[in-house]
This record gives sequence, structure tokens and C-alpha cells, in this order.
Amino acid sequence: MNNKTAEKNNLDSKISFCDNVIKQFHKAAELMSIDSDIRRILATTKNEVVVHFPVRMDDGTIRIFNGYRVQHNDVLGPFKGGLRYHPQTSTDEVRALAMLMTWKTALVNLPFGGAKGGIECNPLELSITELERITRRFTFALGNIIGPEYDIPAPDVNTNAQIMVWILDTYLATIPPQDRNRNVHVVTGKTIASGGICGRDKATGQGIVFTIENWCKDKKFDLSQATYIIQGFGNVGSWAARLLKPHGPKLIAVEDASCAIFNPAGIDPDDLLRYSKSNQNFIAKYPGAEEIDHKTFMGTKADIFIPAALENQITKETAQLLKVKLVIEGANGPTTPEGDQILQEKNVGLLPGILCNAGGVIVSYFEWLQNKRSEIWDLEQVDHSLRRIIDHAYIRTRETALEYKTDWRTAAYIVALKRLEEVYRERGIFP
Ligand code: NAD
Repeated sequence: MNNKTAEKNNLDSKISFCDNVIKQFHKAAELMSIDSDIRRILATTKNEVVVHFPVRMDDGTIRIFNGYRVQHNDVLGPFKGGLRYHPQTSTDEVRALAMLMTWKTALVNLPFGGAKGGIECNPLELSITELERITRRFTFALGNIIGPEYDIPAPDVNTNAQIMVWILDTYLATIPPQDRNRNVHVVTGKTIASGGICGRDKATGQGIVFTIENWCKDKKFDLSQATYIIQGFGNVGSWAARLLKPHGPKLIAVEDASCAIFNPAGIDPDDLLRYSKSNQNFIAKYPGAEEIDHKTFMGTKADIFIPAALENQITKETAQLLKVKLVIEGANGPTTPEGDQILQEKNVGLLPGILCNAGGVIVSYFEWLQNKRSEIWDLEQVDHSLRRIIDHAYIRTRETALEYKTDWRTAAYIVALKRLEEVYRERGIFP
């Protein structure tokens, strides 16, 4: 990571991600006049676990790591949410992400609640064997805080299918042998050989593309002539770009943790991915584009911006710089409430992350079902079912935005909160 990006991260970490998510929640709760008791329940997380665990490093020394799992709400089904490995992972961050998962699963009508977790670490400084030992020891430390019918992790920033398989293997090793094959759905986003589902790797990017297609159809906007920029070229960003390619829009700027790059003639996503894979997953020094600084990247004139990196990127300061017509949130929480306000004043459209990036958890749900029922789904079945769910959530959000005369983020929250409110009303509060 270069100095400019490190400076940007320090600045952004001063904003409480959780406060932002709660502000957005209260805005929607106010507008729909949610029951005040249910509002207090939903503004609170259910369980927050912090584990400190020792790991032997390759040089023989022992390091203590901090791991987190926050379970926000499970009234609609088992807790569900990713695991993030990042130096700035904290309770505040994981709490916010867990809440977003509850809204997301409720919006797309899945039988899941919301959770999130992670480990405070820098994967760039770890060898593959250290990463494996950290993952296994974290899984062991979590014990029965996770479980196939209770809380089901998945990949997020800096975690992948291999890490999910290590979690699976460690979890299964801690339960009786006769129960093991009935518990493979303890984690999703696994490799296909170890019980994963086809299409899970591209699922979040695919959901983004389905959402863009819907928006373009609504607005009679010609996607094939559009230009766009992407922040984050990991799982979500690179898949979104690769899946957009057949639709014809031109990718003109990309930013990741190493730098930002620009080419007005267009950057080929497949070529950039090939390059980044040979460069520790970074786009720095890509020969097909010139390097630009962060501010110039944020001010690039284009039709669409897809933030697909971290939270708190479109802020009071950076929202002023944007010269785009539409923001499609691939990341969780990339826009602060002040950023939202400025985008609305500038008449920039915004499709919220809980809608756009729901493809990941939707296909995770299919993987969970596949494992539970010992089925094998094919890609056609996965894509078809994903599209149906995304389209439905898009239409419900659009209708709600019209009904309440509000922005799409607030509308998506209202759709989710109505579902949660209904269940609380029916079930009541024990005792
Ligand atoms: P990833 O680890 O695969 O990629 C993250 C990318 O962001 C990398 O290219 C990295 O270099 C870049 N990045 C990190 N810090 C940055 C910075 N300060 N400035 C610019 N770029 C930076 O992670 P991912 O799985 O692609 O997740 C990206 C976002 O999407 C996260 O907000 C995550 O919560 C969200 N998300 C992921 C999934 C999923 O299925 N993986 C699903 C829904 C939402």
C-alpha cells in the first residue's frame, strides 16, 4: 500500500461506520413509523464475541490475534455473514457489517439473519501456512458460536474459498465423526470440490450486473455506450468488471489498495486481472494505463461509479469530487450519510449495497441448501434463481421509493424493516 492510500485510510477510519449504519436505519425507521420497541431491538446487536487466540508463526514465535464475530439478529433464520481479514477490523466495523447483513437478507427475502466477523491481521505479512494456522485456530476459538443451523460464515475482504475450506475442516474435526457429513453447510463460499456451489465466486459481481441491467432498462440508458470507474479490484470489483464487458461499457479508471490507474481509451478487465494476479493481486504499475492520485480518481468523469473496496469512501469531502450519474454500491457501506446527502443534492443516482451486492449471500443460500439436501446445482439453475431474486428485490425497492417518496437506500431499508417488523409483531417478545 502506498503512502497516499495509507493516509486516506487513516482519515476514513475516524468516521464510525456503525454510527453511519444506525443513522441510515433510523431514517428509514422514522419514515415508515416502525413500532418503537421493535426499533430498539433492531438497533441493538444480539451477541458480540471477541476472541484472543495464540498462533505459532513460521519463525517459531507465538503471536496473539484478535478475532470477532458479531451476531446482529436471527429472527428470520440463522445468522449469516462473511469473515474479513484486515488490519483495521474492529468491533465497530464488524457490528456495522452484521447489521447490514440483517437488512440485506430481509430485503432479498432469505431465511437468514445477519452476522459478520473477522480477524485483525494483515494477510500481506503472512505466509500461506500462517494464514491456515490462524484460520484454524480462530475457528477452534469460535467453537459452537458458529454452526450450520446457527451462524454460517462466508468470504469477505481478504478471505476466499480456501479459507472457507479450512474453517469447514476444522469445524468438522471438532464434532463426532457420524455428524460430519451432515454439517458441511457450516460455511459457504467453499471450493466446488469441497461442497461449494458453481457461480458463488462471481455471484456478488453477477448481482451487481443484474442490478445495473435493471436500472438501464428503467432509465432507457444505453449501457453499451457508458463509461465507468471501479474502486477495488478483488472478488467483487473484478467480477463486476468482467461480467460487464459483454454489455460493452468502457472501464476507464480503477483504484485498489496499491494505487489508482486511468486510461480514457478503456482498460480491459480480463487483462488487468491477469496482470494483478501476477502482482500479488495489485494493479500498481499496470502497463495499460497511467497512474493517477486518489483525488483525481474520485473526480474522473464517467457515467457509473462502482465502489467495491471498503466502507466510508464516499464522504462529505469525496462526494463533492464525483462526476458520475450513478453510484452502484458493490462494497458494504461505502457511502456515509453526509456523502448520501451530497449525492442527492448533485442529483447522482445511488443503488444501495444491500440490494446491489446481495448476489453473494443469495448464492451462499443456494450453497447452504445444496449441502443440506445433498444436491448438486448447475450454473444455469444458480444464475436463473439469482436473477429472479435480485429482480424482485429491485422492483420492491423501486415501488417503495415511489410510495414513500424517498431515496433508494431508505426504500431498501424499509422493505427489509417491514419484513422484520411483521415477524416480531407475530411472534411477540418472550415471556
Ligand atoms: P477482496 O479482498 O477480494 O478485494 C478488496 C479490494 O479492495 C482489493 O482490490 C483491494 O486492493 C481493494 N482495497 C482495499 N483497500 C482499499 C483502499 N483503501 N482504497 C482502494 N481500494 C482498496 O474483497 P471483496 O470480497 O471484493 O469485497 C469488497 C467489498 O465488497 C467489501 O466491502 C465487502 O464487504 C463487499 N462484499 C463482498 C462480498 C463477497 O461475496 N465477497 C459480498 C457482498 C459484499
